[in-house]
Amino acid sequence: MHPHGDTNGNRLDPWFDAYAERAHNLRASEIRALFSVVSRPEVVSLAGGMPNLQDLPLERLADSAHNLILHHGTQALQYGSGQGWEPLREQMAEIMTYDHIIGADPDDIVITTGSQQALDLMAELFIDTGDVVLAESPSYVGALGCFRARQADVVHVEMDDDGIIPEALEQTIARLRAQGRTLKFLYTIPNFQNPAGVTLSEERRPIITGICEREHILILEDNPYGLLGFNSDPLPALRSYAPEGVVYLGSVSKMFAPGMRIGWALAPHAIRDKLILASEAAILSPTMFGQMFLSQYLVDYDWYGQVKSFRHMYKERRDAMMDALTEYMPDCHWTRPAGGFYTWVTLPSGLDAKSMLPRAVRAQVAYVPGTAFYYDGQGADHMRLSFCYPTPERIREGVRRLSTVVNAEKELVDMFGILPEENTSSRGAEMR
Ligand code: PMP
Repeated sequence: MHPHGDTNGNRLDPWFDAYAERAHNLRASEIRALFSVVSRPEVVSLAGGMPNLQDLPLERLADSAHNLILHHGTQALQYGSGQGWEPLREQMAEIMTYDHIIGADPDDIVITTGSQQALDLMAELFIDTGDVVLAESPSYVGALGCFRARQADVVHVEMDDDGIIPEALEQTIARLRAQGRTLKFLYTIPNFQNPAGVTLSEERRPIITGICEREHILILEDNPYGLLGFNSDPLPALRSYAPEGVVYLGSVSKMFAPGMRIGWALAPHAIRDKLILASEAAILSPTMFGQMFLSQYLVDYDWYGQVKSFRHMYKERRDAMMDALTEYMPDCHWTRPAGGFYTWVTLPSGLDAKSMLPRAVRAQVAYVPGTAFYYDGQGADHMRLSFCYPTPERIREGVRRLSTVVNAEKELVDMFGILPEENTSSRGAEMR
């Protein structure tokens, strides 16, 4: 029996004892708790990972939607195949050639409701209670949530500026195997990682796939940011080294628009069969309207030109953030992302990003505390800053505001060695 109260410990629920055991593992993410604060215009949000969509050709897109309904409405508004619409799967095979995945069979692709659904399906198919999922240290909060909901135990593998450290992966596997643990897959975001902003180097890619092949550990390669590199074309996907050992996830959320809610999984054939069955059980079929609209967008528009203009915009924002960090926060360390949306900041020792957050919000700036990206409470001395949404000027102002809070905290730590505790009820009020 569980005590009466939800897992966040703040509300009585008469149905509490009726939930499945796993439902007690669902948690509101730290990012979600921030959403209401972040949407206030006076707050500079360096917290969320929302793409900037202002440059999309909205009027033309509106015409496309109009024409789709007018000419193909009965198909676009109908149920579709559980695996996803074949013409779009063919286009996705084309898109993956940018990641050096050549000749992918559209029949091995399953279209999902964003790559988030693909993460959920993989968790559904592979995780029994107590199974181990290996993940980078730190890792994407939304994937950790999926794995937690299935009662997995996520074990983090150390990274450096070149991504996962192969020796650390080998040692972690050996240690867990010696403990008799069941390892299900390695979850990795090789390009412009969320939250750390680092990219797995080209040299390490075949080494990581080689280790996993040898140890018979499946790789779940999550690549929503891969096309958003600032300096160069994408490195070869892990899938290109080990087609039978990798489930590759793509998404149009960052290269076009997250509101499409369209992603895909390219999987070894047997896993692809199970993914289709699990997806049909969950959603029957992905959105036909969305798939047809997206397919048309890929044909009628210069979608790669759009990607290039996104790169340019995000690079400018990355530069603004790097410059502002250098100017205002010299006591911190941070990663220099070569693409994507995020940098990972290490605070001076003794500072705690989570307890500092209410003070930052009072200074009208928001970020995500590092603890959100670990399974085990690590990360208090880190924060994720995203540079995707605010303009360069706002980024600069946000970092300036943040620096006033960080510097004041550091002064206190330097003086007293310890920070005064925020009282939790006022913290709750800040978060709402
Ligand atoms: N994986 C990673 C690493 C992400 O950052 C995100 C979104 N922030 C997703 C998956 C999910 O994206 P979507 O469902 O929009 O494709």
